[in-house]
Amino acid sequence: MNSIPHFINGQRRNDGQEMGTVFDPATGLAASQVPFADAALLDEALRVTRQGAEQWRHSTLSQRTNVLFTFRQLLTEHANDLAALITAEHGKTTPDALGELARGLENVEYACGLADHLKGEFSHQVADGVDVHSVREPVGVVAAITPFNFPVMVPLWMTANAIASGNAVILKPSERDPSGSILLAELLQKAGLPDGVFNVIHGNADTVRRLLVHPEVDAISFVGSTPVAKFVYETGTGAGKRVQALGGAKNHMLVLPDADLDVAADAAINAGYGSAGERCMAISVVVAHEAIADELVQRIAERTDRLTVGPGHDASSDFGPLITREHRDRVASYVTGASAHGATVVRDGTALAEQDGFFIGPCLIDHVRPGTPAYDDEIFGPVLSVVRVASYDEAVALINANPFGNGVAIFTRDGNAARLFSRDVTVGMIGVNVPIPVPVASYSFGGWKNSLFGHSHIYGPEGFTFYTHAKVITTRWPQPSESQIDLGFPRTR
Ligand code: NAD
Repeated sequence: MNSIPHFINGQRRNDGQEMGTVFDPATGLAASQVPFADAALLDEALRVTRQGAEQWRHSTLSQRTNVLFTFRQLLTEHANDLAALITAEHGKTTPDALGELARGLENVEYACGLADHLKGEFSHQVADGVDVHSVREPVGVVAAITPFNFPVMVPLWMTANAIASGNAVILKPSERDPSGSILLAELLQKAGLPDGVFNVIHGNADTVRRLLVHPEVDAISFVGSTPVAKFVYETGTGAGKRVQALGGAKNHMLVLPDADLDVAADAAINAGYGSAGERCMAISVVVAHEAIADELVQRIAERTDRLTVGPGHDASSDFGPLITREHRDRVASYVTGASAHGATVVRDGTALAEQDGFFIGPCLIDHVRPGTPAYDDEIFGPVLSVVRVASYDEAVALINANPFGNGVAIFTRDGNAARLFSRDVTVGMIGVNVPIPVPVASYSFGGWKNSLFGHSHIYGPEGFTFYTHAKVITTRWPQPSESQIDLGFPRTR
């Protein structure tokens, strides 16, 4: 069986006693093996990454820019190769995989402007004969730990800005779909990045636990589920690291009575079932004002009947399988258990779970309430729940009481309601008639509450801040005649 290598110091390596299995989720069959790094290999990889960091921090800005521009070009030339790897291991459709790559590419393009993003500040004459300037220096070794659901985009969120800032990166991708990261490593090498500046090691929770406390790691960027994000943040900061840890989500979409219901129903379908609901910015709860709830549920239900579920490489598929058999069965359990909690199952796609691949069809559950598993848990599958509310205030209270705060959307034709909503909700990313409001790469991405541990959002300007230390230099060039003894605290006036 094909074995997916680590990538250390520019070399493919297959070391590791323990092996993971990578499945083709469309057939349910084992497709490849992936070796897990043991403690000795992790030590070696981190030594290499440290050497890479020592070398790369001295690279010129134009050298970094050249590498990133070339990398950008190679990513576009290899777009179909990357998409094929994503579809084969993750299961998402080919257009969706190309969309993931396009959003990752944005981050490389943003990083190409590094000469501007890394500019410091200068103040003349802050006191007589004294100037001050600030610079940003790389933090050193960045550990990037990523989830299965965006096996190329999320590594690019982290890698582009970390390398642009002069750091070296050790990437620990999800063990479920790790092949895309190896192609990224090869393309970075081809783009001229010196060996050792970008390394990939495979592993599981044990590997992550070792990384979090390893003395050679300076900063940790993590994206994954909330319990693991919280653990990563607490353990990493406890070991003195700089950590940003992005967690799970439960994204709501409020539909007010004045909304265009066809527009809202299309948006709920696209954002609820796209990528089989395995997006951290997927809509999982439609909050329907009771004045239009019956009509909206009917329009969503009619649209689910037109969706085709099948292998990601099949051009007729609207969405593909889930990532594992266990995850598929867990998702199905929320649908089969919903009526016992007083909800109405309007569409039940769990019959597809009888197939060999990890498929579930679109599921729609109405009359869902907080306090039931379908509402309280992040399901991460093609399941839309509808919660009915009597007023705007009830909707906002519901959204703000939810422990997650990643994304939220409002559908309305009332500009003032939308403006108030964007001020009222305790959520990091808000869409006004936009159901998946993932910020473009020149802004930063981050949720609130249990969707982000640490204060730093990821990529964009906050990415550059996270991957650099600030230094402020105060300078004076006194003439010997001006020198004197004065033990008072230096004053500017
Ligand atoms: P996950 O938390 O299971 O895994 C993420 C990473 O952590 C993987 O590399 C994995 O090997 C490692 N890991 C898993 N269990 C661990 C443990 N107990 N200790 C230490 N490390 C561990 O997440 P996933 O299932 O791969 O991805 C889906 C989750 O990621 C969803 O909850 C989704 O909402 C979230 N996500 C969030 C964002 C965001 O930007 N907020 C983006 C994408 C995905």
